[in-house]
Amino acid sequence: MSKQTFFTPGPAALYPTVAQHIQTALDNQIPSISHRSKIFQDIYEQTYHNLRTIFKLPDDYAVLFTGSATEVWERMLQNCVEKESFHLVNGAFSKRFADFAQLMGKTAHIHEAPFGEGFDMDEVQVPDTAEMICVAHNETSAGVSTPASDIHALKERYPDKLLVVDMVSSAPLPLLDFTKVDAAYFSVQKAFGMPAGLGVWLVNQRCLDKAKQLEAQGQVTGAHYRLANLWKSFEKFQTPPTPNVLGIYLLNKVSQDMLDKGIDQIRRETEVKAKMLYGALSNKEIFKGFAPFVENHRHRSESVVVANTPGSPNEFIEKVAQHQMVIGSGYGKYKDTQIRIANFPATSVEQIERLIGVMVQCL
Ligand SMILES: *Cc1c(COP(=O)(O)O)cnc(C)c1O
Repeated sequence: MSKQTFFTPGPAALYPTVAQHIQTALDNQIPSISHRSKIFQDIYEQTYHNLRTIFKLPDDYAVLFTGSATEVWERMLQNCVEKESFHLVNGAFSKRFADFAQLMGKTAHIHEAPFGEGFDMDEVQVPDTAEMICVAHNETSAGVSTPASDIHALKERYPDKLLVVDMVSSAPLPLLDFTKVDAAYFSVQKAFGMPAGLGVWLVNQRCLDKAKQLEAQGQVTGAHYRLANLWKSFEKFQTPPTPNVLGIYLLNKVSQDMLDKGIDQIRRETEVKAKMLYGALSNKEIFKGFAPFVENHRHRSESVVVANTPGSPNEFIEKVAQHQMVIGSGYGKYKDTQIRIANFPATSVEQIERLIGVMVQCL
């Protein structure tokens, strides 16, 4: 099988340096090293510093590792909510976080926007009793982005509540001010372009304090994976259980590669590629019957471009695949009316150009 290029929104194309890093990791027997060794601690420490640099994390932030982003939902709810959470819901992923809250016996307040739309923050009213506000910077199912400035505005209006940001399908791109956010998280198989199996939880002291307070009140916040326990290990650059050492090694390398290239440069290229994709899909002469799904330009995701298709997109997706280019289908029930194209740092301007050329041929 000749090599395909994946424009799917996760798992996604690997960042171009990943294959070489995996080979080097095997050559150096990284998967066999002890997670209690100095070598591992150094890898964790460097990864922490890289992520700290990328996201400009304040001093009171820890960088913790989980199995996935989904796991972070559970950990946040267990550790930082006694009774009530508040969720901005505009698609499948933000909805699932709220569902988890209910499954865990919390009251989940929901402010919902129609699928494909963003939020008018002036209309958002968070109840006094809500302890934590949850918002997705990039709702992957709908291709809708919540601008960083809107997220910051929530903190300005509700400074006493914990503010938690899902940046699973946009990190490292969001320009979040982490002095205005209490926690954020992502999985590495999306915009970081790595193999799945690692979640990254950026979390501040306020969240830890809340977890400790709930524990003092008798709340069960977990066992081995309690925030307080993860944090205690982090202070030694260790993890409570045996972690995904290879994944953390790769994250260290890929985050370093991204820093070497320049996160601003990566952001600029993402913007250029997003303009190309939205521009092409808006061209009614060529892409007849297609249209970007998200109408409000302010809420259009740069990292996951969703488009309506004329009828079922299956045949089109298959035709494009014959050119070794894999684009995603719509999410859930939108499978029959939409396509989704990931615009992650792993794919270059040239590859997006080629993809657009191929899509035109396949119409
Ligand atoms: C993929 C995704 C998740 C879940 O990530 P997992 O790695 O499957 O746990 C959560 N939120 C968003 C926005 C996503 O795109």
